[in-house]
Amino acid sequence: MNIFLVITGTVVFIAILVVGFLFLKNKKLAKNILDKENEIIGKEKEMNSKMYELAILKELGDRVGYSLDVHQIIDVITGSLHQFIDYSAVSYMIIDPEKILFKIHLEKSVHRGFIDDIRDRMLKSLSALLDREFKNTQVEELISGAILIEAVQEPVKSFFNIPLVIAGKVVGVLTVADTRAGLYKEEQMTILYKITNQASQAVTRLQEVVTTEQGKLNAMVESMTDGIFMTDLDYRILVINPAAKKAIKVSDEKEVTIFDFIDNLGGKFDIRGRLEESVKLKKEYISERILLGERFFQIFVSPVKNLSILGQETVHGGVVIFHDVTSEVEVETLRKDFTSMLVHELRSPLDGIKKISEVLKNKKIVLDDKGHDEYIELIYKNSSTMLDLVNDILDVAKIESGKFSIKKQEGNIVNVIRDRVDFYSIFAKSSSVSLKSSFGVNVPEKVMFDQEGIEHVLNNLISNAIKYTNEKGEVQVVTFFHQGGGNIEEEAKVAGYPLVNLFPAKVTGDEKNSCLVVMVVDNGIGIEEESLGTIFSKFRQLDTKHAVPKKQKGTGLGLVIAKGIIEEHNGHIGVASKIGVGSTFFFTLPLV
Ligand code: ADP
Repeated sequence: MNIFLVITGTVVFIAILVVGFLFLKNKKLAKNILDKENEIIGKEKEMNSKMYELAILKELGDRVGYSLDVHQIIDVITGSLHQFIDYSAVSYMIIDPEKILFKIHLEKSVHRGFIDDIRDRMLKSLSALLDREFKNTQVEELISGAILIEAVQEPVKSFFNIPLVIAGKVVGVLTVADTRAGLYKEEQMTILYKITNQASQAVTRLQEVVTTEQGKLNAMVESMTDGIFMTDLDYRILVINPAAKKAIKVSDEKEVTIFDFIDNLGGKFDIRGRLEESVKLKKEYISERILLGERFFQIFVSPVKNLSILGQETVHGGVVIFHDVTSEVEVETLRKDFTSMLVHELRSPLDGIKKISEVLKNKKIVLDDKGHDEYIELIYKNSSTMLDLVNDILDVAKIESGKFSIKKQEGNIVNVIRDRVDFYSIFAKSSSVSLKSSFGVNVPEKVMFDQEGIEHVLNNLISNAIKYTNEKGEVQVVTFFHQGGGNIEEEAKVAGYPLVNLFPAKVTGDEKNSCLVVMVVDNGIGIEEESLGTIFSKFRQLDTKHAVPKKQKGTGLGLVIAKGIIEEHNGHIGVASKIGVGSTFFFTLPLV
């Protein structure tokens, strides 16, 4: 019995132990399960918030794209906030340059006092954040969502504000409010903070990119020689460069409006009408040449178009370009003047020939042998002048089109120079000018050159020197050998170069190579410094600023051809001159 009791007691004891153990184990298990459940719920909540965060950011990305429009971005945030937070109203207040925009969206019906309360609170917090007093009258209000019901007299009981910060600056506040008390937990506020923060960071980054790009664009526009300005659809000037202001002669500092252009263009160009046409019809427009002050412009007007992601074309305004065509007009005028000058030059000898032929044709006029010979000589002279001119024109045309060629042969350059100096000594004598030639040491006997071409150059330089030198003046042709790397001034001095203070600095283009240098030096009238750069230009003769006495006036083609011939020899041609002192023309022939 006792044993039975002991056994039973033991069994019961064990059973109690087991039950107890199982109970304890189950309790622990239950607690674990509860913990797990809580953990899962927490995780789920966390995931939901994360998903919401991601969803909003994705929506921001999709809908806003690369927009810098803060209103649009906040609209996206507030538009989807109700999925996550409970509220009677969500609102934002943004500072625009000239007003404060207050936009409130009602999820539930509230009374007017509720909105006014939120509006006041937001305005106060904006003032506090920016340390600036804002007035209620500055606020522009926009209400959307549920209707206002005055009977709902519930006040604001839950409320929280988030400052909207872009590029470190507060631009507004975002507010969530409800009629129920104690609604918003820290966790919800944190997420909203995070979202607005991320959006503001994205906008800040984008703004930085836009500012940098705008900076580059502005620098480019500023430095453009063409005048340019852009307007919005209301013809307000958004961008303008200094050249555009210069075109209408307004100072660079002045704030310019479209009216400045309308006033300055007068009746010459209907800028407003053209812009309107261009923007409305999406058409480009190019004007005729327009004279503004003393400059000519061609005006281009075109719409500023933008293609959206959906392929829609929107016009944002118009752009106007003032292209300065003054130099083109000048060249055109010079070309015309040049042609009429040539025609005139040809007409005089032709007229002479015609008149002589008339005399010769007239049987009633009897000429003796002397008279006959004189007439024949006149015909010869006039036709030679004409032929020379026609040949010069043809040569210049060939030089300009790159078709001018020379025939280089080995020859004695010293003989050619002596011959030309001899030829011009009669002309020099008749002008009471002394003409000499001098040669330096080591001048090579044989040089490769185009004899006809070099004779042409010498003719031009020597005849000009005599022509532009007053009576009792001196002209000297100095020829010397320049040793590559040698002292060229010293070499010229040895050769008898007379005008030490007029030695051209850039005689050789390539100091290393040896060459033959020929200088035609005169102590004549000289050339103004500013015309030295254009002396070898075709139209130089037409420049009235540099007019020479009428009887000395030629066609201005001689130096152009001389340059062409020397450059075909791979040589250099140039000049140094001083008014009243004289001129030194030089050319070089490379010695290979
Ligand atoms: P042209 O003598 O037929 O007018 P060129 O081409 O030979 O044409 O010369 C161009 C211009 O250069 C001349 O009209 C003259 O004004 C100037 N010029 C040329 N040589 C001299 C010189 N030795 N002294 C002063 N002026 C010169």
